[in-house]
Amino acid sequence: MKTNYIFITGGVVSSLGKGIAAASLGAILEARNLDVTIIKLDPYINVDPGTISPIQHGEVFVTEDGSETDLDLGHYERFITTKMTKKNNFTTGSIYSEVLEKERRGDYLGETIQIIPHITNAIKNRIIEGSKNKKIAIIEIGGTVGDIESLPFLEAIRQMAVDLRRKNVMYIHLTLLPYISVSKEIKTKPTQHSVKQLLSIGIQPDVLICRSEKKISKKEKEKIALFCNIIKKAVISLQDTDSIYKIPIFLNKQGLDDYICNYFKLKVPKANLSIWKKVVFLESNTNKKIKIGMIGKYIELPDAYKSIIEALRHAGIKTKISVNIKLIDSEKIDNKKTKIFKKLDGILIPGGFGNRGINGKLLAIKYARENNLPYFGICLGMHLALIEFIRNVIGIKEADSTEFNKNCKFPIIHKMRNEEKNIEMNSMNFGGTMRLGGQLCILKKNSLVYEIYKKKQIVERYRHRYQINKKLLKEIENNDLLLSGKSKKNKSIEIFELKNHSWFIACQFHPEFNSNPKNGHPLFIDFVKKSFSLNKKNNFKI
Ligand code: GLN
Repeated sequence: MKTNYIFITGGVVSSLGKGIAAASLGAILEARNLDVTIIKLDPYINVDPGTISPIQHGEVFVTEDGSETDLDLGHYERFITTKMTKKNNFTTGSIYSEVLEKERRGDYLGETIQIIPHITNAIKNRIIEGSKNKKIAIIEIGGTVGDIESLPFLEAIRQMAVDLRRKNVMYIHLTLLPYISVSKEIKTKPTQHSVKQLLSIGIQPDVLICRSEKKISKKEKEKIALFCNIIKKAVISLQDTDSIYKIPIFLNKQGLDDYICNYFKLKVPKANLSIWKKVVFLESNTNKKIKIGMIGKYIELPDAYKSIIEALRHAGIKTKISVNIKLIDSEKIDNKKTKIFKKLDGILIPGGFGNRGINGKLLAIKYARENNLPYFGICLGMHLALIEFIRNVIGIKEADSTEFNKNCKFPIIHKMRNEEKNIEMNSMNFGGTMRLGGQLCILKKNSLVYEIYKKKQIVERYRHRYQINKKLLKEIENNDLLLSGKSKKNKSIEIFELKNHSWFIACQFHPEFNSNPKNGHPLFIDFVKKSFSLNKKNNFKI
């Protein structure tokens, strides 16, 4: 199948929402019956984002096939139906490591290895490989035009128009039009400069998507078109919006998908955006409200919890409940400061690494358990929920995780082991060595999770190095603790719940990676529903 390539670059400033624009474009093209994929190219030297702190680039998104990828892949999966794989994201670091490995093997037969052609060829091969069998491949180039780091990517995509013929390749440039409130005007100069910079490396954009505070007028579009050498209808306005799910509709209204289909000479039906219209309608027509406290240590950058925040929003869309998410810094919670929990309808503790802030999280879990407040623990939030239960209900105060205290006396959470060889797994490298990706989990009948999922087997995505110590757990007898999800062959405990509680579910996997605005996710939907229905004093109709 011949693939049509759409390259998206960014200009003027970073953080303009290129990922969301790429995903939204994918959504409208999919709504025209086109088979779409999206690939993200990241200019940094890390081999993948797995070792980067979430405070720097936001969460690490885990794909079904077990790769640790940029958070933009989360947007792609929420907007299009194609599942992302390890081929949908690569970094400069991974390209260099591939080329250097080949050089050491002697694959280049005595050649001098250079950025052009060796690095650029490796980039082009990965793009082509990731786009195989798709009618449309949208390729998002991370960073901003003008960065030293992204130059090899830009050179590679320039060459692709030569290799594949210009008509099979489209360049979209996403740029910022600043609004000067004193003079009440939108400024086009930075965009003109950004396009000039692209031109100097041989790329003439075909489409400009202009991010701005306000919608840009026809006159301004005409001016930009003239100065940037672009036809008028290919200048698209993308103003700030209260919901990212409105963006496919914005882009479609301005004819972007028509322009693209004509450009590539694709004979396809008009876009059917009814699903997106429904999502937007439901989102703005909620009639109830709840407040969920999310307790974490990366709260200065909410993108660190992007998929969870979106999954709660999706649950709100499905239940007509507006979910107000309060991000609470776990380091600011102590014994005297638990008042904050009184205002909440539910508590969620997301994944995390290391021991900073765990005491605050343990206090939050204790509060939820003792006050019958819905509790949702994800990965680290599961480990801590078990530690809290064993310390405060069973009475074993030494219960801990070896992640926080290597020599603890009751390591109820410990590093995953290779049971056959009786050794700790992955003790050498940090990068890419956790248990990663989609795996089967078997649910216990007569459990809350079984009732919620309504099936016996589920596949969810994992990303962890530590797990429940099954041997030690056997020493504990408590009728309240229900082990409701196990891996295949009973190897590890994946979910536990508390029986004498309104809603207390702790899972080893990350359900947030499987939520999308059209369907939501059963666990998030039930958590939101229960949080609303239980706490009569807080919930109210809007
Ligand atoms: N730090 C824990 C582990 O490595 C939990 C990981 C997570 O929350 N994703 O097992």
